[in-house]
Amino acid sequence: MATLTLKTEEDYIAAYGPTLNYSPAGGWDRGEPDRLVKTHCCFCGVQCGIQLKVKENRVIGFEPWEEFPVNQGKLCPKGVKRYMQNEHPDRLKAPLLRSEQGFEETTWDHALDRTATAIKSIQERYGKDSFAFLGGASMTNEKAYLNGKFARIALETKNIDYNGRLCMVSAGAANKKAFGIDRAANPWSDIPKTDVIILAGTNLAECFPILTDYIWKARDNGAKIIVVDPRITPIARTADLFLPVRPGGDSALCHGILHVMILNGWIDEAFISEHTEDWPALKKLVRKFTPAYTEKLTGVPARSIEKCAELWGPAKKSMLLHARGIEHHTKGVENVLSYINLVLATGRIGKEGSGYGTITGQGNGQGGREHGQRCNQLPGGRDINNSVHREEISKFWGIEETALPGEGLTACEIIDAIEAGEIKGLLSISFNPLVSIPDSQRTRKALEKLEFYGAIDFFLNETARYADVVLAGSLQEEDHGTVTNGEGRCIRLNQSVTPPGNALPDWKIICDLADRLGKGRYFDYQDPREMFSELSAASKGGPIDYSGMTYERIESEQGIFWPCPQPEHPGTPRLFEKGQFFHDDGKARFHAFDYRPPAEDVDAEYPLLFTTGRVVSQYLSGTQTRRIGSLVDQYPEPLCEMHPHLAEKLGVEDGDQVRVTTRRGSIDVPAQVVKTIRPDTVFVPYHWPGKKSANLITNRALDPISKIPEFKVCSCRVELVGPHAGGGRKA
Ligand code: SF4
Repeated sequence: MATLTLKTEEDYIAAYGPTLNYSPAGGWDRGEPDRLVKTHCCFCGVQCGIQLKVKENRVIGFEPWEEFPVNQGKLCPKGVKRYMQNEHPDRLKAPLLRSEQGFEETTWDHALDRTATAIKSIQERYGKDSFAFLGGASMTNEKAYLNGKFARIALETKNIDYNGRLCMVSAGAANKKAFGIDRAANPWSDIPKTDVIILAGTNLAECFPILTDYIWKARDNGAKIIVVDPRITPIARTADLFLPVRPGGDSALCHGILHVMILNGWIDEAFISEHTEDWPALKKLVRKFTPAYTEKLTGVPARSIEKCAELWGPAKKSMLLHARGIEHHTKGVENVLSYINLVLATGRIGKEGSGYGTITGQGNGQGGREHGQRCNQLPGGRDINNSVHREEISKFWGIEETALPGEGLTACEIIDAIEAGEIKGLLSISFNPLVSIPDSQRTRKALEKLEFYGAIDFFLNETARYADVVLAGSLQEEDHGTVTNGEGRCIRLNQSVTPPGNALPDWKIICDLADRLGKGRYFDYQDPREMFSELSAASKGGPIDYSGMTYERIESEQGIFWPCPQPEHPGTPRLFEKGQFFHDDGKARFHAFDYRPPAEDVDAEYPLLFTTGRVVSQYLSGTQTRRIGSLVDQYPEPLCEMHPHLAEKLGVEDGDQVRVTTRRGSIDVPAQVVKTIRPDTVFVPYHWPGKKSANLITNRALDPISKIPEFKVCSCRVELVGPHAGGGRKA
């Protein structure tokens, strides 16, 4: 079944009917809205404010929301088109049941009974943990909380995890290790007030475009911008210093920079001795990371390493911002900790214009990892292995502590356990692992082995096509609740429309299923507001405390930063202001990991490095953005970026078909010859399914701590397979 992309006037009229007017000047127009709804973009972790125009229960357009402080009315290419997903003809409007003829619409009673019966049957035969649950980090805080509670109480399984396992978990684990808490330390309003910024592994202008504005403001105020990336991404093109790191070389690079800082005395000894632990081991480790040695490991010229230390070391204020480029590695946690070392060594944290932040990729990348849908986590950021935390939450939920499952498998491990025949049943929501998880042939084989698979989603994504039952859930604008953006600011999503046809809000589907599993008394919610009251009460006293928040406060204050432990507490935009970190002794931790290479390095057979990432017009596995024609037109298919030197060596010209081969298989895609990438590295974006999917060939090797896969580096070879698809070489 192909994804329908709306492109022509006929497509739109066929989809929406004659109520839609086309004006060449103004685009698609349905006239004046009945109302404007203040809410947020459904895509990245910036969570820009937007006003959706609603007419007769349809989202027909948008207006800027200039008063919302994060984006002040600005939106990126995805944000301005996000309204077009509502009412897309692919939108699921009823539950579907697989039959010999394919999927057929059915009633909710039938779909939910079939799902509950399958869950009971599998668990009776193979045990509770033989059924797994996979959630998503684009969903609201309320749903993240509900998913965790549903898995532990209704499914009674330990095997619940979420697609944030593919995104922010390396940063989350590193934050906990260094600071004792997992959140960006500063509000983004601190960025323009700083003197120097390191942007590490973040294609900021394409993945979080509105944050670019904060960087430009900092530069207008005199700040120096340092970008670390294997590609000269759009933000790197105007940086003061660009460090073209070899994929996988980040921790070595940080050690080299720190080496130069120590030699020059650009560290804060007083801060280190008063507020940190474990400095001596790090100081000893970085002795060998001379600029020359570091250059050999990272490919970054020694003089650039010194220059970076010169800019960062003596600055009065500094900000470190990083994203998946340093985190999607088998040493993702070590990479993040190595950058945090650079922050702690200067003592520039917990101050206006000085600090640190992970930029979250998914819409609720922050909140989605806080409320208990991770395999090792309970609400309030509690630890499922901590006996006190277990006692607190089991008491709060009204169950015996012994009935609370323990730590389960992570997302990729769940797929592996399905492939191994240990997990027999799966329920997923807003997760598309067939496109998202590396080595997708293995994911496909695993899906084929499931005895039962139920998928809750709003479009029939590539993974859901393997389901026995598809439960038609809700788009972001069809429900309400809260999300927490990359700063740690909890904000309100207001409902714009109701789900179409017989589709239901996601939470209602889960509560109905819980009822059929005999646990309805724990899930007697009538509205997301009740779930928020419960999750905020559950978080009280935990590491991630929302207990002082209400919907009214969040809305009237345009978001509240956690921790917010009392109703009168103002929230905490900037962490660590009193030099107090969240470890028991109040101190932060340095970490001294020696450099180690990626799981796969180059060799004679696979002499190049393969790396992946996003493009500005697409989001995650493309379930939403591949359906919006104007976004597809911006970047219609995956391209293989390669440097002209490499292209010349391979006899490839721009637009030629090339085959990229790794140990897992091959993809054939057009070449895009650009000077903005290292000559030893090729890049393919990962938003597409099928034979051109980058994740057909990426490596599923996991970070031992965060269990994130190594999307950002594996070895490959590239060969020319044919001329440009248009026939012959381009002029
Ligand atoms: Fe803002 Fe991100 Fe949406 Fe773009 S995708 S409008 S930057 S929230």
